[in-house]
Amino acid sequence: MGRPKYRLEKLLKELRKHGIADERVLGALERVPRERFISGEQQELAYRNAPLPIGEGQTISQPFVVAFMLQELRLAGTEHVLEVGTGSGYQTALLAELTNSVVSTERHASLADGARQRLARLGYTNVAVYAADGTRGWPRNAPYDAIVVSAGAPEVPTALLDQLADGGRLILPVGSLVSQKLFLVQRRGEHFDRYDRGDVRFVPLVGEEGWGGRASSN
Ligand code: SAH
Repeated sequence: MGRPKYRLEKLLKELRKHGIADERVLGALERVPRERFISGEQQELAYRNAPLPIGEGQTISQPFVVAFMLQELRLAGTEHVLEVGTGSGYQTALLAELTNSVVSTERHASLADGARQRLARLGYTNVAVYAADGTRGWPRNAPYDAIVVSAGAPEVPTALLDQLADGGRLILPVGSLVSQKLFLVQRRGEHFDRYDRGDVRFVPLVGEEGWGGRASSN
């Protein structure tokens, strides 16, 4: 299947209209073939501004939400980034376009395997995907200049705060199982500034410091 160019252009126009202005983010969206991250029968829908199922009851995020979160990270290209919730690997590919080092964690091994294969086929060599509970972060490669969480947490996982570099930015949805607020957390020494970036709806972050773990048991 050829790249549905006019649909991509229409999507980019829509994203600009809704406030995505970072040209590096828009450029990455233009270069990463979203259709390669979804299954055959859905590829027609690749450039709609909508989430789509990717298996294991999970979804590839809506392009606007992905673009918005990436824009909030303000990546210049030299950052070391942690992603929690690889899913299809689509946002991982965008991160790989936007910076030079990406670590991504996914709790479903089958999704992690699929994403790793797609990213390798597309030639990304600056990403590492691990099947793990991302609420614990990935301490081995910490600290991170930026962290992006693609699933909704009951609270901000403390492991992610610990692994954020000084001056670093963390973006994540926090709230209930059905709706969350997107928070931007910026670290200044041992101080963490928190900014509300609007309402969102993500699949649950399941893990030790997520749903089903300590954070949601009280
Ligand atoms: N950005 C991805 C979004 C996938 S949906 C994409 O566009 O494809 C969120 C993903 O987070 C799901 O695949 C889900 O399995 C994963 N997830 C949920 N809890 C997790 C955890 N504790 N650690 C790692 N991944 C988790």
